[in-house]
Amino acid sequence: MRAKLEPTPKGFTTIDPLTEAETSFDEWDLAEPVRRALSDMGYERPTLVQSSVFGHLTKGQDLMVQSKTGSGKTAAFGIPIAQILSDEKKGVQAIILAPTRELALQVAREIEKLCQHMDVSVCPIYGGAPINPQIKALADGAQIVAGTPGRVLDHIRRGTMDTSGIRMFVLDECDEMLSMGFQEEIENILKTMPSKEQRQTLLFSATIPTAIERIGSR
Ligand code: ADP
Ligand code: MG
Repeated sequence: MRAKLEPTPKGFTTIDPLTEAETSFDEWDLAEPVRRALSDMGYERPTLVQSSVFGHLTKGQDLMVQSKTGSGKTAAFGIPIAQILSDEKKGVQAIILAPTRELALQVAREIEKLCQHMDVSVCPIYGGAPINPQIKALADGAQIVAGTPGRVLDHIRRGTMDTSGIRMFVLDECDEMLSMGFQEEIENILKTMPSKEQRQTLLFSATIPTAIERIGSR
């Protein structure tokens, strides 16, 4: 069975993970360190949302994904991020925005595990924590940032985070971020990024209200 594809007018593809067939990680063309990490984590087969997202992302598509809590959304974007990252290059290549410090930390930890056999560093960036260690981690070349919009924007404005090398931009818990009023910050962060053609954009949410469709189109 194939995933149901519903291209939206804005070039986003909405997928319904429940229609995707189950596959095994062995069928994926994964880099060896990613494969080994999944096995260390005890992940034997992808969840439905993971297999849906992987196929589309490797084709270079932007995605808007709706999938319920607990369905494995973090690794759905984490595995492709680990897969496309170059661990020889320093500097931010992927950024994941989440609505709260706890969620940003959770994402950072999961991606750290996925990248445990690569020379990649993941930097959690959120407010309420001292900024200097974050500045140092970024200056040391962290390749992945998982953070909350306010503090991320703060780093961009201070010039301590360079967004020009970002190839993957993820909004996790998009519905919550919008209901918490992060829309303007997200848009300001987006303005500093490489153009749409040079990066992949992924929106994840448990629901897709119209406000998300709107931000998706931007
Ligand atoms: P969501 O973001 O959709 O709410 P999470 O990414 O937090 O879901 O994942 C929920 C739980 O499922 C986590 O404990 C995670 O470690 C586990 N998990 C994710 N993918 C797999 C997998 N392929 N195999 C086994 N467990 C998984
Ligand atoms: Mg989640």
